[in-house]
This record gives sequence, structure tokens and C-alpha cells, in this order.
Amino acid sequence: MLYAGIAWNADGYQVEVVDADGGRAMDPTHWGAERVPELTRWLGGEGRQPQDPCAVVLESTNGLVDGLLTAAGLDVYRADPHHLGARPDFGSVPALALAELARTGRAALAPLTAEGGGQSGRDADYHDGIRRAAPVETRLTEAGRCFRHGPRERRDIALTFDDGPDPRHTRQVLDILARYDVRATFFCVGLHVRALPDEVRRIVDAGHGLGNHTWSHPFLPDLTARQFRLQLDRTSEAFDRAVGQVPDVFRPPYGARTPETLTALLDSGPALALWDVDSWDWARPGPERITRTVLDHAGPGSLILMHDGGGDRHQTVEALPAVIEGLLARDLRFVRADELAGLPDRR
Ligand SMILES: [Zn+2]
Repeated sequence: MLYAGIAWNADGYQVEVVDADGGRAMDPTHWGAERVPELTRWLGGEGRQPQDPCAVVLESTNGLVDGLLTAAGLDVYRADPHHLGARPDFGSVPALALAELARTGRAALAPLTAEGGGQSGRDADYHDGIRRAAPVETRLTEAGRCFRHGPRERRDIALTFDDGPDPRHTRQVLDILARYDVRATFFCVGLHVRALPDEVRRIVDAGHGLGNHTWSHPFLPDLTARQFRLQLDRTSEAFDRAVGQVPDVFRPPYGARTPETLTALLDSGPALALWDVDSWDWARPGPERITRTVLDHAGPGSLILMHDGGGDRHQTVEALPAVIEGLLARDLRFVRADELAGLPDRR
């Protein structure tokens, strides 16, 4: 058995692998975010020596790779702050510390599954954060800077795709949207924007909207105010470098909120875009089920959550034509999320 730790930083992922005695089993490796599919195969044994199976540990501030790793059948665990030493303001603890935790402390960690999602086992912290954030959320809503849907009296609707851009699925989603000539919004993560700027350019050139979805898809209750600010700002900077524009909408990973994070949005920064229709596509229930879930719940003003990145999104791609056709048949008009919310056009 081998033990791997995956850390994230400003330019991708660092991976360390130790053996049963805690010695380095191989040299540390660096992976750009565009290479996560390849990293998944490598951790599965492809192209590495020794080829022994790996138990993998990643942090609760790294919510982008677990989807592919668990779908590939790997043994994946999430380490939460109380398992770890101090973390830098931007980045995770070193990969070697996570690999060592995989070797010695797995029993105390949360095992992740494809069905359970990256934040499984953290329900109490999730709901506590939302409850504590409620007063700030009310202030944001009153200022017109927090929304779950648009006006119900118009026939506007917004499709949104989170966790991309993705080297395979974003282009497939864009092709389908182009086929029907409809607009959508892509809530991208900074790690992927940095790694795949051409895909972001493709999104913008096709007239779609952009949203900020943090840098590394962290579980927000585990961040300090400063750590959150850096997740937000570094992602905006990556967008600016890629396409010369900064999104004016933000969506928190898993929909988590805390007073610290919402306070950061209060004075400046993007508006908070939640959703009122969850397609549940991330749980891969089958394309027919995804289509039915959306069509059963969507209506005028709906803000629909889907995913083009962060895992195997074949089912989303497969469901999308039927989703669009079903909504078009109801005479609904597809707009960007910022348009749905009536935000001023700053593009
Ligand atoms: Zn997400």
C-alpha cells in the first residue's frame, strides 16, 4: 500500500507519495489543473513505479479533484482543519503532511464517495454557517446583491454551469448551447481559469456570462476572512488575465455561507448568486433523471444549477439537449445570471 497527499497552491497541485514506513516512495510531482484526469489515472497506478494501490488524502479546501478520484474507484479521504497544522493564507498544508496523514491517521478522516460529495459529514458546520450568516445575507439581499432566482412575472431563466472550465466537458456544453442559440453562465474556479484560459475565452466569445466560484472550491466554514478574500481576488485576477473581465456574480462552493465570507461581499465585490433549481447532476443519477429533475422544478425566473467541471460530467452533457428543448417548449428565454438578477451590465 502507498499513501498520497494532494496539496493545492497558486499554480496547481503538488503530490507526494510515501510508503508504509513513511519514506518517500517517489519524487514529488506537480500537476497543472488541466491534468487532473491524467493525475487520476496515475494515482490509479498508470505509468508509475511502484504501482501499489494508493490511499489519497486531500484537504477540505480542495474540492475539485475528489469527484474524478472517487469515480475512478480510488480510496479518498478528506482532512479537516482539526486534523492539520496551520495552513498558509493561500494554499493548503504541504502534500507530504497530507501523505503522512494518509499513512498514519486515515481512521480519523472522512472517507469520500462519488455519491456523498466532497463535504459529506460536515452538515452541522454547513447549516451552522448558513444560520450565523443569515443577518448578513439579509443585508445583501436588501441591497439587491444576493439572489436565488429572477422575477417570476417574466419568462427569463438562467442555466448555470459550475466547477469548470474542464478540458473535455466545457467545449461539449458550449457546442450544445450554440446549437440552440441560448445563453448560460459559467461559474469557474480560479485553478481551472489559470490552467485553461482558452476555454474561458471561448465562453466569453460565445456571449455567455462568467461567475467567480473561488480558487480551489473550499468548504467555506473552514476559511478565515483573509483566506476567503484571497480565494475571491486571485480568481478575479485569473479571469482578468484570461479574458480582460472580472465576473460580477459569485457562487459559493456547495452553497455554503458564513458571516466572514458574506461580510467580504457586503461592501465591494461580486453579487451572491445561489440557485432555486438543483439538477443534482454531480451525483450522476442518469441523464433522464437529471432532465426530469430540472423540468419538474423550473419555471419563469429559475436559476438552474448544473456542472461542466469537477468530475465526470458525461451525464450532464447527455441531458442538456432535452433540458433546453423542454424549457424552450415552455416559451422561456435564456439569459445570463447577472441579467436574470437585473445587475447593471459592466462588461
Ligand atoms: Zn461547485
